[in-house]
Amino acid sequence: MSEIKLAIVIPCYNEQDVLPYTIEKLSFVIDDLVQKGIITKESFLFFVDDGSKDKTWEILAEANKHSNGKIKCLKFTSNFGNQSSILAGLESAKDLGADCAITIDADLQQDETKIIEFVQKFQQGAEIVCGIRKNRKTDSLFKKFASLMFYKLMNILGTKIPANHSEYRLVSRKALDILSKYQETNMFLRGLFFELGLKTDYVYYDEKIRQYGQSKFNTLSLARLAAKGITSFSFRPLRFIFFVGFAFAFVSFLIVIAGILHLIFLKRPLVPGLELFEIFESFFAGLQILCIGIIGEYVGQILQEVKARPRYVKDIELH
Ligand code: UDP
Ligand code: MG
Repeated sequence: MSEIKLAIVIPCYNEQDVLPYTIEKLSFVIDDLVQKGIITKESFLFFVDDGSKDKTWEILAEANKHSNGKIKCLKFTSNFGNQSSILAGLESAKDLGADCAITIDADLQQDETKIIEFVQKFQQGAEIVCGIRKNRKTDSLFKKFASLMFYKLMNILGTKIPANHSEYRLVSRKALDILSKYQETNMFLRGLFFELGLKTDYVYYDEKIRQYGQSKFNTLSLARLAAKGITSFSFRPLRFIFFVGFAFAFVSFLIVIAGILHLIFLKRPLVPGLELFEIFESFFAGLQILCIGIIGEYVGQILQEVKARPRYVKDIELH
C-alpha cells in the first residue's frame, strides 16, 4: 500500500506547560512512522491555538520556525471552544491535502503510541477509527457517573455514539469531504461522524493522567457540551414533552368528568380536602418549567443556527 499523508490535529487552549512535551512526543511519532515507510515525509502536526492567553502561541510559532513544515499552526482571534478548534484543524488538514487526520488532545492523556494502530486500521479500509478508553481511572466519581448517564441518554434518544469515545479519532479524506457539507454552527463532532454511515473501526487505549497544566473543562462546560450534543442530534425530548403533556391532560380530563358526575349523583365533591391538589399543582408547575427549559434549549440552538455566525475566526496561520 502506498504511503499516507497524515495530519495530526491538536486543539490547544492555554497549554504552555504541556506543549514542549507534546511537540516532542508527537514529532517522534511522525518521524517514526515516516521511517517505517507508513506515512509520507509531507505528513505534519497541526496545532490550533484556541485564543490562549498564555505563551501557547509563542511556543507554537517558535516550533514552526525550526520544523521545515512538519509543525504547522493556526491561531484564533479568541476562544471559540474545543469543538471549533478541532474542526478548524480538520478543515485545514483537508485543504493541505492530508489523506487522513487524527485528532488528539494537547495534554496527550490519550496514548499517542497507539497512533500507528489508527493508521493501520485506515490502511485496512476504515474511514473512521475511534479511540475508546479502556479505563476511567483518571476521572472523578462524578465525572464517571455523568459520562455514563450522558452516553445512556444519547443512546435512548437515538444517537449511537460509542461509550468512552472522546475526541481521539482518525477520519479519512472522504469523511472530511462529507464533513465540509455540514454547515451548522454548533458541531458535535463525536455524534456527527457516526451519522455519516462510513466504515468504522476502533482502537482501545489507556487514558493517562494529565502530565502538565490543568483541565480546561469544568462541570458547567461539560453540561453545556452535553446539552449541545443532545439538542443537535435528537428531537425526542420535544416529542417526550408532547406525550407527557398529552397524557396528563387526558388524565385531568377524566378526573374533571368524574368530579362532575360525583357532584351530580352523589352530591359531594370527589376529593374532600385540597391538599392533594396542591401537591399535584406544585408538581405540575415544576414539570412545566422543566418542559419550557427543554424547549428553551432548542430555541437557543435554533437562534444560533439562524444567525449562522462563523464557527471560528482565524488570526494567523503558519505552514
Ligand atoms: N481545548 C480547546 N478549547 C477550549 C478548551 C479546551 O481547544 O476552550 C482543548 C485543550 O487544550 C485540550 C482539549 O481541548 O487539548 C481537551 O481539554 P482538556 O484536556 O482540558 O479536557 P479533559 O481531558 O480534562 O476533559
Ligand atoms: Mg485532558
